[in-house]
Formats: sequence, C-alpha cells, structure tokens
Amino acid sequence: MQKGTIGVTTENIFPIIKKFLYSDHEIFLREIVSNAIDATQKLKTLASNGEFKGELGDLTIHAALEKDKLIITDRGIGMTAEEMDKYLNQIAFSSADEFIRKYKDQNIIGHFGLGFYSAFMVSKKVEVRSLSCQEGAKAVKWTCDGSPEYKLEDCDKTDRGTEIILYIDDESKEFLEEPRIEGLLRKYCRYLPVEIAFGKEKEWKDGKEVETGKDKIINDTSPLWTRKPADLKDEDYMKFYRDLYPMQEDPMFYIHLNVDYPFNLTGIMYFPKIKSNIEFQKNKIQLYCNQVYVTDSVEGIVPDFLTLLHGVIDSPDIPLNVSRSYLQSDSNVKKISSHITKKVADRLEEIFKKDRPEFEKKWDNLKLFIEYGMITEEKFAERTEKFVLVKNTDNRYFTLDEYNKLVKGEQTNKDKKVVYLYATDVQAQYSFIEAARAKGYDVLNLDGQLDIHFINYLESKNSDAHYARVDSDVVDRLIQKDDHIASALPQAEQEDMREVFEPLMPSSAGHFFVAWESMGEQAQPMVITQSEFMRRMKDMSAMGGGGMNFYGQMPDSFNLVVNTDHPLVKKVIAEKDGDLGEQLKTIAGELEPVSAELNALKEQIKGKKEEEIDQAQKDRRDELEKKEDGIRNNKKNVLAGYGKTSQLARQLVDLALLANNMLKGEELNKFIRRSVDMIK
Ligand code: ADP
Repeated sequence: MQKGTIGVTTENIFPIIKKFLYSDHEIFLREIVSNAIDATQKLKTLASNGEFKGELGDLTIHAALEKDKLIITDRGIGMTAEEMDKYLNQIAFSSADEFIRKYKDQNIIGHFGLGFYSAFMVSKKVEVRSLSCQEGAKAVKWTCDGSPEYKLEDCDKTDRGTEIILYIDDESKEFLEEPRIEGLLRKYCRYLPVEIAFGKEKEWKDGKEVETGKDKIINDTSPLWTRKPADLKDEDYMKFYRDLYPMQEDPMFYIHLNVDYPFNLTGIMYFPKIKSNIEFQKNKIQLYCNQVYVTDSVEGIVPDFLTLLHGVIDSPDIPLNVSRSYLQSDSNVKKISSHITKKVADRLEEIFKKDRPEFEKKWDNLKLFIEYGMITEEKFAERTEKFVLVKNTDNRYFTLDEYNKLVKGEQTNKDKKVVYLYATDVQAQYSFIEAARAKGYDVLNLDGQLDIHFINYLESKNSDAHYARVDSDVVDRLIQKDDHIASALPQAEQEDMREVFEPLMPSSAGHFFVAWESMGEQAQPMVITQSEFMRRMKDMSAMGGGGMNFYGQMPDSFNLVVNTDHPLVKKVIAEKDGDLGEQLKTIAGELEPVSAELNALKEQIKGKKEEEIDQAQKDRRDELEKKEDGIRNNKKNVLAGYGKTSQLARQLVDLALLANNMLKGEELNKFIRRSVDMIK
C-alpha cells in the first residue's frame, strides 16, 4: 500500500472546493459521468486501431445508489496504479488547485474545468477502484477522505474499468435520492454517446408498477444532430423537437447545422411559431459540448435575435470554463455566431426561392423574428432584405422591391419620395384606408409588434422612402404632389369657426387643432388625423425605445380637419352668420375704434424705451389693451356658446370622433340620444 500527501500547497483545498461552486454542486455528476464516457471512448479507439485485443463486451455505464453511496461504474480503459498517481494525485489535483486560485475571487459560472475533484463538493470520501485494460494489470484502489492525504492500495476488482464510489456527505443528502439523480442524468447526460443505465425499467402488472429485470437506459447515444441529414426525414426532426420541448406546438421548419471548418459545430435549429411576447420565447437553445449538456443560456454565443429560435448547438470549440464577457469577445464564438446567422438567412432564402406560396403562408409567424434580426444584425439584414415581405390590406405579399415597383408611380410626392401608406389596425382605420384606396393608393398592413421599429429602420436605410399611417393626414395631403395649397376659407372666417369648433372637442383625449381643407363635396365633412412623427415617437416610447420618454409624456395631439367643400360645413358657417350676424357686427363695431386708437398710440411710442414713454400714454395703452381683450373674449364666448347650441356643429364633430373610435362614455350616450331625436 502506498500512502502520501497530494502535492499541493493549500492545506484546506477541499473546503474551498465545497464552498466554491455552491449553486452548481450538481455538476459533479456530469464531470464523473463524462470521465466514464471518455474512458469508454478511448477503449473503443484502442480496439479499433488494434492496440486493445480483448473483448469489448457490454460497455454500458452504470449509476447506482446504495445506502449512503453513489456509484458510477464504467468498462473503459481503467487506470493502473501509476496512472492513478499521475492523473488523480498530480494532474487533476493541481489543475483543480489552479482553477480555484484563478477563479476564487470571481463570480463565474464554473462550467467544466474542475473535473474529477468536483466529487468532493458532495462527498466526505471518494473511492476509485480500477482495473486497467493493459495486459497483466493489477486492480488498484485510491481513497481520499477530503484531506490532502490519499491511500493507494491493491484491490480485488476483476472486471475491467473504473468504479467511482462517492460517500455522499451530510449536507448533500439530496444526491442519494433516486428522482434527483435521474433528473440530473437526464439533464446533463441525455445525449451522451455511451449508454448509461440507472435503475430498472418498470412495467404495469396486475394493476401495480413492478420492476422488470431490464436496465433503464436514460440517454439517447446518437441524438439527431450527430446523424447525417441525408438519412433523416422531416418526421425525425419533428419527433426530436417534441422530445426536446414537450407541450410545444410543432415548429415551422428547421436547419441542420454541420460545420467542420474553421471550427466544429453541429446542431439543429428550429423556427418556432412566434406570435407575441419575445421574452417568453427566449432561452430555449441548448448548448452541448461533445454531447454533454452545458447550458441553456446562450446569450453572447448566438446573436440575440437567434435566441428566439429553439434547438441544440454542439461544439467542442466553445471555451466553456470562462466568464461570459470573455466568451463574447472570443473569436471562435464570434465566428460561430456569424456562421449560424448566415445559415439561418440561407435557409430562409432557400424556402423563399423554392416555394414562395409556402413562405408567404409562414410569413406572419416568421415576421417578428426576421424583423428583429434585421433591426439588430446588419449582416443578417444584408442577406434578408431581398426576401423580407410586406403584406398589404388585401392580404397580398410583396418583397420590398416588388412593393416599391407597385406604388412608385402613384405614391411619389413632390419631393421625389415614395410615400408608403400603412394601417396598424385595419378595422379601426377602415374609413382612412378606403379613402386612400379610392385615390388609387395601396395601403400596407403593419399590425406587428415590431413594425413601427422596422419602418424606422427602413427609412434610416433609404432616405427616399417615407412611411405614413393612413390617418396621419387627410388623403390629399398624405402624398403631396404639388406646392399649391388652396386657401380654403378666408382668414377671419377661419378664426371665427375655430372658436366654434374647438370647445366641442374632448379635452381628455389630448390637444386638438382645427385646420381647414377643401376636400371636395364627396369627402367626409370632418376628419381627425394625428401627425405621423408625433404618433410614431409616442409609440416607440411606449414600447420602451431608449431615450424617448420625453415624447411619451407629451399629451396626444390631433388635427380636426374641416372640409370646407362639404355642404354641411357650409351650412354651419351660414347658420352662424345668420344667428350671430347682428351680434358679431355689434362686437366688430365696438372693437374697431378701440383697435384703431390702440394702433395709433403704438405707432406714436414706437422705438421708445419703456422709461421714455409718457405716464399718461402708458396708462391709456394699458386701458385700451384691456378693453380690446375684453371685447375679444366676449366674441370668443359668443362663438363658443353658439357652437355648443348648434346641433349640426356638435353632430359633425361627434361623427368625426366616432370614426376614430374617440367618442366615449357620456358624450357617446348624448350623441346617440341626439341622433335618435333627429330621426324621430
Ligand atoms: P479531465 O477529465 O479534464 O482530464 P479530470 O480531473 O476529470 O480531468 O480527470 C483526470 C484524469 O483522470 C482524466 O484525464 C483521466 O485520465 C483520469 N480518469 C478520470 N476518471 C476516469 C475513469 N473513469 N476511467 C479512466 N480514467 C479516468
């Protein structure tokens, strides 16, 4: 028997190991089983190149629970006494020591690196019994109780391979529970390349569940991504998806990744149906390293937008025992990321080219993903801009190029910009869509979550394109073809009528500005519009667009556009003149001399500094200004009062509000009563 002290300076390295990865204790099982897999694979290699001549036999790895012990047994190459000394006492320990020294002060996720010694995170004693595959080898046993002292002695093991016996410590009793170990094996070892048995298969017999004599194999040794795409059918991919994500709707399609240069990577990416809520879908990609499960948080390894995808990535080239910020700057990781981006874009293009109808059918589910990708990844955008689709309000799909060709003729404005009209809610904006169509324009349906961001992006890429929602202006002004703007109403009349209409608008909805437009007798008498710029800024800020809170806090502002050609509008104006004509004339008569005197006075004192003006003149000026204000206010009240009593004015305003879904509550109720009264 050999006794010794493990060659390391730190006396109490085990407590450090125990404390170090507190939350990650469970990974010990992955480390121990991975070693068993490696030992088995090495034996297979030796057998295939003739260096090992014996029988391979059954190579299944066994995990078993026995009272206070967890035992992992393999039939791999095993270790001789010299090898144990070298690998377990010297190399493994010194690398564990180095690992801890490096990362003690950092809060890192310790994937891999700790290896065999992670067993001490959960064990008070570890025993390794091994018989090497070398001819004439003697079985040896290594024991260590967590102090830096180990024992190495002969033992009676007769079967080739290694048996690791973990005497689970009192704080780690959970690892003696069968469901816990089975859960961990399924999490970390589900796709390992050598069969792993844990417990026995069960079956139902006479209404009871009983154990059969058969070992229960917990893993799939050749998961789909390791197989040749040529040997696989769609069905296989769908089945694998259901294994990975039970309870999920089937994906739309998949990509089988297979790269061996300049790095190694295999995997399968699935496109789920993305409907809403981006956050919800994230963190579904599983990352493997040679079939060993590593993590399902892949931020930094694949571009952000690809985290919307599902599936598996397996690469031995991703450095796993480093911090995330290091990972993000690693050149291999960058290459992997851009390669996956390219593959995904290629696959989309292939479907687009091969089967456009199918692509269109899937578009509504794909759109969020592609738009997100284009906004966030320039490289992806370069590849996808040829086949990204837009849908119009007739449910027809176009590429950006096709759509540009379709509308360029009719929808180019006087500044040579093509104006793309869109609706965000086909039902709510129906009357505006109809008005635009009647004019020969086409209207896009942009009701997706990211559509507003996406058109911002498109405008930033192409300064000759401009997007305008159909209700952002009256149809004649949406796409302005010339500079000529007809003066719709004399200035004085405009001012009067503004006082009539403005008080009728619901102040709770925001600010309303009254504007005048000659839109023809056939158009609506009044239309409520909202400026494209302001609305978009507010929409973006509502979605959390950075730095736009300023707009979010502004009240909404609308235009009440009055159609001066409409007979009913003409009637309101005429009625006002009829009803208030005398009164307004009187007011004008009062105002005229006051304003005249005030203007004359102002002319006299023009250019003088305030202290140079006569006190008497000052007093008179103030008096006249007050008087003028008073008369103006009176006029305002007269006009507002008229508006409030004019059924016609009120009805016209309410109809415009109704068309925009802005007539609510008490006002809606009053409108209905008034309408009923009118048709009685
Ligand atoms: P790593 O696996 O990263 O090399 P470990 O600390 O996990 O580091 O293991 C150290 C070494 O011990 C391994 O490289 C291997 O040579 C040996 N070893 C560990 N487990 C076994 C086993 N089950 N069978 C044979 N050799 C083993």
